[in-house]
Amino acid sequence: ASGAHVPALVIGTGYGGSVAALRLAQAGVDVHMIEMGMAWDTPGSDGKIFCNTREPDYRSYWLRTRTKAPLNYFLGLPIDRDIPRHTGILDAEEFGGITVYQGRGVGGGSLVNGGMAVTPKRENFGAVLPSVDADEMYDVYYPRANAGLGVGTVDPAWFDSTACYQYSRVGRKHAQRSGFPFVFVPDVYDWDYMEQEAAGTVPRSALAGEILYGNNHGKKSLQQTYLARARATGRVTVSPLHRVTSVAPAAGRYTVVIDQLNTTGDTTAVKTVTADRVFFAAGSVGTSKLLVRLKATGVLPGLNGEIGRGWGDNGNVMCGRANHLWDPTGALQSAIPCSGIDNWAAGGAFAEVAPLPTGIETFASFYLSITRNPHRAEFSWNAAAGRVDLNWQASWKRPSIDMARTIFDRINSREGTIYRTDLFGVYKIWGDHLTYHPLGGAVLNRATDNYGRLTAYPGLYVVDGALIPGNTTVNPFVTITALAERNIERIIATDL
Ligand code: FAD
Repeated sequence: ASGAHVPALVIGTGYGGSVAALRLAQAGVDVHMIEMGMAWDTPGSDGKIFCNTREPDYRSYWLRTRTKAPLNYFLGLPIDRDIPRHTGILDAEEFGGITVYQGRGVGGGSLVNGGMAVTPKRENFGAVLPSVDADEMYDVYYPRANAGLGVGTVDPAWFDSTACYQYSRVGRKHAQRSGFPFVFVPDVYDWDYMEQEAAGTVPRSALAGEILYGNNHGKKSLQQTYLARARATGRVTVSPLHRVTSVAPAAGRYTVVIDQLNTTGDTTAVKTVTADRVFFAAGSVGTSKLLVRLKATGVLPGLNGEIGRGWGDNGNVMCGRANHLWDPTGALQSAIPCSGIDNWAAGGAFAEVAPLPTGIETFASFYLSITRNPHRAEFSWNAAAGRVDLNWQASWKRPSIDMARTIFDRINSREGTIYRTDLFGVYKIWGDHLTYHPLGGAVLNRATDNYGRLTAYPGLYVVDGALIPGNTTVNPFVTITALAERNIERIIATDL
């Protein structure tokens, strides 16, 4: 309620925010979480909470009147469709040179992501977070994060026999014949549940094309893991459809201004609360946008010059390959990827063998590559337009394409195959207009101290993907979670 006081306020309910809320509550602190998206706990008229990728409806996109599918063409035909404007689950946020996909709702990105839960290779960690003690991370915080998230791996024997991973087995065969290491990738999806889906004994989710707009079963999103444990402490409350617009110092505390939203995105009330401590966990983009604006408009002028800097796309680039008729990838595809091709050391690319769960045979192999793209962008306040801009350039994807080609040019040459040109436009090979993995904008040990403190303002902290300087060498959420575990432990021990 407006006028209330809370000891700890957390902005956002993704990985960083959920870790902070759980650990603060366990330390005896009452926590209020503010989330701009919906609760995603109530079924629609079809009895389902989430819609699937084949029939996107009002639940699919955050305040858009037309879908903006990451893979927006099929057989050269556009597949986007009109939808009612609604506070849907997936935000396709457009900046000048890139579209940044993000989850919206209680659980943040965990609601919409593929659940691929990858710990970076130890030898790569120094490049990911140079100021963090790697021994501590690999001995304590990565194991803690993996346990808290419920990470598991597909049973290799089942993998080899199930129809729904035919596409991954084709990916393995082609990778190995070209001499690339093929790796199983852990995931938070409940693998026992998926085996039951394949056996036909439970309702299908991964096997029904559910992923980008939420999974009705099987996926262990934060709602089932960290947030469930946080609520069980009795000390954590969550306000969905509330968006933080300001955090200002006020007599040793912070005044937080919050818009209450309706499901068409209008502000229906403005509330003000005070908090002793505020944790920015609005995601790389959300946290950066807030901090950049608050600094530029004189609300938090003491924030340092690194605010808004060091943003990267984790080198994301997508592509498809056209297989021969004797290499079908399957009409039934699990929407949860379970494997990858590792060419990081030699070529700067780690490619996930991704599904194309259209429900029909496409003879396509589809990949999302994470690459060592060196470009970093900066957020800045555009006073004339009243918004935060990001100066990423579309041409900055070029190094990512070159790195992904170190894998797929070789495979195409070995297999006598070609790239698909019908998935991202008319005759367009590369999905190079987007990222799923925004990282940075309030980088650890630069914009904050080495534990996420915004030191000019005691009691303000960053705890999410904004801390990570643009690349994690693999999918990012395990690293975001592990870093949050490390930082919140220190903050609880020394600041409370
Ligand atoms: P988020 O999870 O983004 O949470 C931030 C939350 O804050 C959101 O819920 C947002 O609505 C809320 N918020 C923002 N601004 C405000 C505000 N002003 N007031 C109140 N609330 C606010 N990563 C992997 O590791 N493996 C994968 O397989 C994978 N697949 C992905 C697939 C897709 C389609 C997408 C979009 C992402 C994927 N990711 C994956 C990335 C991963 O989901 C993100 O890296 C992760 O969610 C970031 O965590 P976070 O805590 O930084 O913020």
